Amino acid sequence: MEPFEWDRDRLTLRISEWERAVPGLVCGFTTRLGGLSAAPFDSMNCAMHVGDRDQAVIANRELLTQKLQFSIEQWTCAEQVHGNDVVVVTSTQRGKGNKALADAIPSADGLITGDSDVLLASFYADCVPLFFIAPSQRVVGIAHAGWKGTAGNIGARMVEHFAQSFQIEPKEIRVAIGPSIGGCCYEVDGKVVEAIGVQLPKETEPTYTKMKENGKIQLDLKEANRVLLERAGIHSILMSRLCSSCRNDLFYSYRKEAGRTGRMTAFIGFN
Ligand SMILES: [Zn+2]
Repeated sequence: MEPFEWDRDRLTLRISEWERAVPGLVCGFTTRLGGLSAAPFDSMNCAMHVGDRDQAVIANRELLTQKLQFSIEQWTCAEQVHGNDVVVVTSTQRGKGNKALADAIPSADGLITGDSDVLLASFYADCVPLFFIAPSQRVVGIAHAGWKGTAGNIGARMVEHFAQSFQIEPKEIRVAIGPSIGGCCYEVDGKVVEAIGVQLPKETEPTYTKMKENGKIQLDLKEANRVLLERAGIHSILMSRLCSSCRNDLFYSYRKEAGRTGRMTAFIGFN
């Protein structure tokens, strides 16, 4: 069963299993539908760095936060630089990047918070969103894993920060891997597979790659992240089957749209 399910208004895909199990938890992923942005960002683009009008982006963020019963003042996001740095966010950083790119939390691709009045948000068009929760401690996280973040094993970096900052063990953490480009549509060259392979034993390679006749390789980034997270000690992992390129009607796809498009939002927090 697909773990990311439509909400009643079909504005967001929610990790329903988690939301049912953990009171007050709000977590999920937007699609490209239901917002105000014009083409090629139509219509629910929530990212400011892609060339869309700031006014439209802020209006989309307002719409989404209201729907989630948060305020835009709680919306907190990072710069996202395709790295593997993780920042633990407290209430004092609440609102960073909510209305301007310039004050987003710099140089980070992973955010974690144990404060209940913060809504963590990050942005995607093909890259893999990783959602984290330690339900007993009510600590949540979000990480942006494109191929570079995956090669930097950002999933394991998140697990380390849960331990360092909150003394939470891997067995207490659940992870959900969100909609993103699938192995079906993500063709890469050997250099990319090699970079990811540094983190993993060679024999795991066939679980996330498939050789094509043209010499290119199909890379399943979601699966590569799943294997990395398992090796970091995470046993509870949900994984979306949705491909952002196959379902370009529903999602923005950086590859399919040759780089000029909007971004979906991954969000997680307590309200
Ligand atoms: Zn696909």
